[in-house]
Amino acid sequence: MSDPSVGFIIHNLKQVVTLAGSSLPRRGKEMSELAVIEDGAIVVANGKIAEVGSEADLLAQFPNSRRVDGQGAVCLPGFVDPHTHLPFYGTRENDFEARILGKSYAEIALAGGGIRSTMRATRKASLDDLVTAAKPRLDRMLCSGTTTAEAKSGYGLNLETERRQLLAIKELDEVHPVDLVATNLAAHEVPDEYREDKEAYIRLLCDKLLPELKELAQFCDIFCEDHVYSAKESRRILSRAKEHGYQIKIHADEIESVGGAELACELGAVSADHLGRISEAGIKGLASCETIAVLLPGTTFYLNLPNKAPARKMIEAGVAVALATDLNPGSCLTESMPAILTIACADLRMTPGEVITAATINAAHAVGMGDSRGSLERGKWADFVLWDIPHWRYLPTHFGVNLVKDVYKKGRRVVQDGRRVSS
Ligand SMILES: [Zn+2]
Repeated sequence: MSDPSVGFIIHNLKQVVTLAGSSLPRRGKEMSELAVIEDGAIVVANGKIAEVGSEADLLAQFPNSRRVDGQGAVCLPGFVDPHTHLPFYGTRENDFEARILGKSYAEIALAGGGIRSTMRATRKASLDDLVTAAKPRLDRMLCSGTTTAEAKSGYGLNLETERRQLLAIKELDEVHPVDLVATNLAAHEVPDEYREDKEAYIRLLCDKLLPELKELAQFCDIFCEDHVYSAKESRRILSRAKEHGYQIKIHADEIESVGGAELACELGAVSADHLGRISEAGIKGLASCETIAVLLPGTTFYLNLPNKAPARKMIEAGVAVALATDLNPGSCLTESMPAILTIACADLRMTPGEVITAATINAAHAVGMGDSRGSLERGKWADFVLWDIPHWRYLPTHFGVNLVKDVYKKGRRVVQDGRRVSS
């Protein structure tokens, strides 16, 4: 492998989809403006983008740079996946089949399945087990074009296991090319042992699980639904999280409209996620505050649920929309952002341009990293993907297969011809 600090110019790119533009999240019509350069090239030095422009200009401007042939590929920024439950243990194929056969969530839980079965398996797993299980997931993410991802704890629901999950995220971030941003989701559920005394678990969250894990997580997230944590309880827990120095994310209005989006605006959350049942007031609120709406259409597809987020309405109202996989063992088991893009087009009626914006620059803003990635602009990390497609518009039209050719992470080629380059 070459030394990326020396610098090179990658040319013979049919299109470079730069997403260059405003330093703010993209809204409304901006979500369709991708700033595409036909016959483009990128100059990379020290792992960052030194220049982006037309091939003719850049080859003339940098005549002595080492040249890398892009072989006519279409180049996009690496995807940012802003909502994953990456460090989990165990599988849930029994739940998947039971659901198809018509069993309810409660019946599945009673038979030992559901989120609590992942919790039991994750509590038993060692740090090594968690890292070993998650590594191939990260490889699949990288091979599907994701170069940065958010990762949540939330299957421990006690100090020891939540810490182990966050330590696994830290270790994976250090050893794997995909950059990870950690989120403390100790408020994912109420654990079995506190089911008769939710108040005691909320006190444990506020006084122990949030402060003691702060050094391992940038964000704090919560499952805000009446049957888990109500909007009132969520406000209380997230306010404490802010006092402890966390930035905020919320699983908001997924199943019922409970004012989750409004709460996200009120608390200055970086993102509000799911939003299948967002209210009119919630849409208005998100359109006029800085919180990003992270939509997870893979989940409603996977569960065959009707609560699809009203993406068209949100975009037209001026909400900044991002997309994520929601990678998790029970309700959406995929590492593939390209699959999510297709589902967002088909189910949410987003356009190809909008889904690309939602998976790159807006997704980067949804993890607080819009200034360093998500678009191909001078000074940002050289995180980009070469796609074996004839035009950027083609990308979400072809699904269930991998059209990634090469992936560059911080200027290094980490995937070549669709396969991980061993480091
Ligand atoms: Zn989630």
